[in-house]
Amino acid sequence: MDYKVLLIGRVNVGKSTLFNRLTRSRRMITTPIPGATRDRVYGWCQLTDPAWQIIDSAGYEPKPGVFQPFDEPLVWQQTRQALDEAHLALLIMDGLHGYHLQDRELALMLKKHSYPTLYVVSKVDDASREAALLTDFQNNLPHAEKIFAVSGTTAFGIPALVQHVSETLLHLEDKPHPENIPTALHRKAEESLGVAIIGRPNSGKSSLLNRLVSAQRSCVSDVAGTTRDVVDAATRYHQQAYTLYDTAGVRKRTKVRGFLEKTSVTLSLQTIRRSQVTLLVVDAMEGFTHQDAKLAQLTIKEGKPIIVVINKRDLIPKEEANHLMQYEKNLRSRYLANLAFVPIRFISALKNERVHELYATIAMVAQMSQKRIATAQVNAALKEITQRKPPHSIGSSSRRLKLLYITQISVAPPTFLIKSNAPESVSSSYKSYLQTRLQKHLDLSHVPIRVFFRSRNPQ
Ligand code: GDP
Ligand code: GDP
Repeated sequence: MDYKVLLIGRVNVGKSTLFNRLTRSRRMITTPIPGATRDRVYGWCQLTDPAWQIIDSAGYEPKPGVFQPFDEPLVWQQTRQALDEAHLALLIMDGLHGYHLQDRELALMLKKHSYPTLYVVSKVDDASREAALLTDFQNNLPHAEKIFAVSGTTAFGIPALVQHVSETLLHLEDKPHPENIPTALHRKAEESLGVAIIGRPNSGKSSLLNRLVSAQRSCVSDVAGTTRDVVDAATRYHQQAYTLYDTAGVRKRTKVRGFLEKTSVTLSLQTIRRSQVTLLVVDAMEGFTHQDAKLAQLTIKEGKPIIVVINKRDLIPKEEANHLMQYEKNLRSRYLANLAFVPIRFISALKNERVHELYATIAMVAQMSQKRIATAQVNAALKEITQRKPPHSIGSSSRRLKLLYITQISVAPPTFLIKSNAPESVSSSYKSYLQTRLQKHLDLSHVPIRVFFRSRNPQ
């Protein structure tokens, strides 16, 4: 029986170079241009008995687009034929650039499908960085029993890997072949970006929704408040599908003011939770209120990006040219002092001014919120940030707080875990300094992020 081993991993992690090393061929061209290896390539690894075939799959990389979360069914489907054919996968990860969130997503996908997998960190050219790198990857892939460090270029670690692959293949015989894994997975319907439109009654939410979906949708006002609390409308803009949720309906259900405010906050919160981006609509003439500030804080607490939309700019006298700037300045200092990163946009839903530009802002914050950043980059940022302002000492002792290592553990919101010698003693001011600086350094400057601290040796 011929055994087949599949190389799987993100683009440019070193699969082709490894393939060439294992097959001792120079037939394939390796190139730093992402996506150069398109089709599957087969070769024989002659280093062991039995010999095994090796398949190099095209790497997975999300297509550039407005909103691209890791799409497991799609990735699975794309690599499925190769996975079906192979007996064992080698998940290749880039040791030069460090752990990437998508490595874990690929690992979890393979694990979920019980696919026999070995974990391999590539581009480890010699032993100098081996231990630190493996700890980094091990921290992020806690379910991996063993991770191999190899180099396709220098052949470092190759004999040990080859030996282990052969042993694993021999032990796979009594296990079900991947062909028997059920595959009722289909491409998910295209992800629609959910946008909540919240704000006080009469601020112009329904008008804005109508403008955003372009055509006047009579059903919006018809349905509002009669049968449903939240009106949703599907629309597309620049190849991206959006679902807009308008909470205006509640206004028409009741005229009792106290009850109204309470209900609309609850309703807004539910709507914020089911969407990815929130638009807080404010009537320019009425001004920003404490309730608006509360809604903004609530949204950020949920980890969702928010855009403050000052509507009815047509009512602001034109001669007051500096008015908008002054307006924004006052608003920021009075109500959004700790939310300096929140974008503010001035529009007129009635006059259809600057409305469609909102889509660009929505797309920008959605993308930021979904951003996955290489561990090496995050650590470089942390180093720079802590060098600029070193951490304080621990309590009243002379020992200093140390922030040893940072890793991104999730997206939407981008969430980071920092290993520290004293996670409990990080002061709130230093934490907020870190948060603000990380936002800036990592190009996450308009979305909320989360930072957690853990001890370096969690038990
Ligand atoms: P693939 O897209 O996963 O097939 O990646 P490639 O094999 O084409 O490699 C991508 C880039 O990483 C190329 O510029 C290679 O020269 C480089 N590279 C690949 N393997 C190694 C390695 O073991 N050590 C070093 N230092 N660089 C490597
Ligand atoms: P909602 O309760 O937040 O859904 O607000 P509506 O969309 O129903 O709007 C409330 C009122 O404000 C209506 O009379 C709209 O015509 C008016 N309105 C909405 N947007 C604008 C705007 O940009 N400029 C002006 N002048 N009036 C607006």
